[in-house]
Amino acid sequence: MAVWQKHRFTAIIENMVEKAIPVTSKVIPIRIDEGKGLTPSIGAQLIAPHGNTQDKRGRILRDLRISVTDRCNFRCTYCMPKEVFDQNYPYLSHQELLSFEEITRLTTIFSTLGVEKIRLTGGEPLLRKNLEVLIEMLAHVRTPDGKPLDLTLTTNGSILRKKAAALKAAGLQRLTVSLDGLDDAIFRKMNDVDFPVADVLDGIAAAQEAGFENIKINMVVKKGSNDHEIVSMAKHFKGSGVILRFIEFMDVGSSNGWNMAEVLPSKEVIARINAVFPLEPVNANYSGEVAQRWRYIDGSGEIGVISSVTQTFCHECTRARISTDGQMYLCLFANEGFDFKTLLRSGQSDLEIANAIMNTWAVRDDHYSEIRGSHTANPSTGSRKVEMSYIGG
Ligand code: SAM
Repeated sequence: MAVWQKHRFTAIIENMVEKAIPVTSKVIPIRIDEGKGLTPSIGAQLIAPHGNTQDKRGRILRDLRISVTDRCNFRCTYCMPKEVFDQNYPYLSHQELLSFEEITRLTTIFSTLGVEKIRLTGGEPLLRKNLEVLIEMLAHVRTPDGKPLDLTLTTNGSILRKKAAALKAAGLQRLTVSLDGLDDAIFRKMNDVDFPVADVLDGIAAAQEAGFENIKINMVVKKGSNDHEIVSMAKHFKGSGVILRFIEFMDVGSSNGWNMAEVLPSKEVIARINAVFPLEPVNANYSGEVAQRWRYIDGSGEIGVISSVTQTFCHECTRARISTDGQMYLCLFANEGFDFKTLLRSGQSDLEIANAIMNTWAVRDDHYSEIRGSHTANPSTGSRKVEMSYIGG
C-alpha cells in the first residue's frame, strides 16, 4: 500500500471510530424517487461512441452491473431486513422493469463505450423469469473489436441446482455465489428466512457439475454475527478450486442499521486465516480489481478480501450500475440515478443514448468510501442512499 493510502486508511478508521454510528432505531424504506431519476444530457453535438470517456477523477468506464429484479427470497439482515422488506414493501411492477430487449440494447450501447464486463445481479437475479433467455441475448453482444463480453452473475445459490445447467448452456461464463457461513444455524439466521446451508452447497455443486470453473464465493463478514465462521469457510473451500472472498459489512442503502462496530477489517480476516493456513499476497489480475488477492503458501488456492470500508478503492472504480427500472447509478452509495429508461422508451437513437451515457460518466465525481463518516452514512441526517437490492450488489 502506498504511504498516502496508509495515511488515508488510518484517518478514515479514526474518523469512523470517533464518530461510531449508532444502529438506527428506525429503519427507513427507500426505493428511490419512484423511478424518476435525473434526466441524462444527450448534448447538442453528437459524437461517435468511444471507450475513453474520463470522469472528473480520470476514471474510465469498463464494467456494468445490471439489477434484473429488486426482489429476493432471502432477508439478509445487512441487505434486505425483514422489518423493511415486508409484504407491504413497494416492489417495482413488471412494467417498470427494463425488458430483456431494453437490457440487451443498453448493454450493446455500453459495449461501444468500452464496457467489457457485465454482472447480472439484484435482488436475487435467478428469480427473474426466464433469465437464461436474457443471458443468451447478452452472450451475442460483441465489443467493437468483435469479442464477447465477460458475462457473469451473482446469486444467493438457493435455486442454482435447478438453474445451473440452463445458465451455462445460455452462455453465462462465470458465477459468484453468496454464502455467509457453513454452520446451518448461523446461515439460517443470516438469511433470516430459515434457508438451509446444505441447499446452497448443493447449488454450488450443481454449478460445478454444469461446467462452471473458478466459481467465487462471497461471504459478508459481520463482526459478532458470523466472523467465527471465517476459518471454517476457508478450510472448507481450500483446495476446491473455488475462490472465497470476504466482504466487509458496508453501509449500503439506508435500512440495514450499519454500525462500524460490526465491521471486521479485512486485515483481521487475513490475520485469522494466516494463523492457521499461511498466506501470501498476490498481484491484482487487472487494475481496478476490487478484491485484494492472497494465496495459500502450500499452493492450495487463493482467497480475496473486499475492503470497501477500511481500504477504499474509489480512485480506481470503473463501474456503473443500472437499476431494475433502468436508472444509471455512478456509485453503490449514490442517492440519485439518471433515468435511462425514459430515454429508451422515448424513441432516442443508440447514438443519442451513447452520448447521454458518455455525458453522464464525464460528470461523475463521487468517491463516497473515501469520505465516509457519520454524516454520509447516517440516514437521519437526510443522506438517503439507494438500496442495494434495487441498484444491484
Ligand atoms: N441475491 C444475490 C446474492 O445474494 O448474491 C445478488 C444480490 S446481493 C445484493 C449481492 C452481494 O451483495 C451479495 O454477496 C451480498 O452478500 C452483498 N451485500 C449485500 N449487502 C451488503 C452489505 N451491507 N455489505 C456488504 N455486502 C453486502
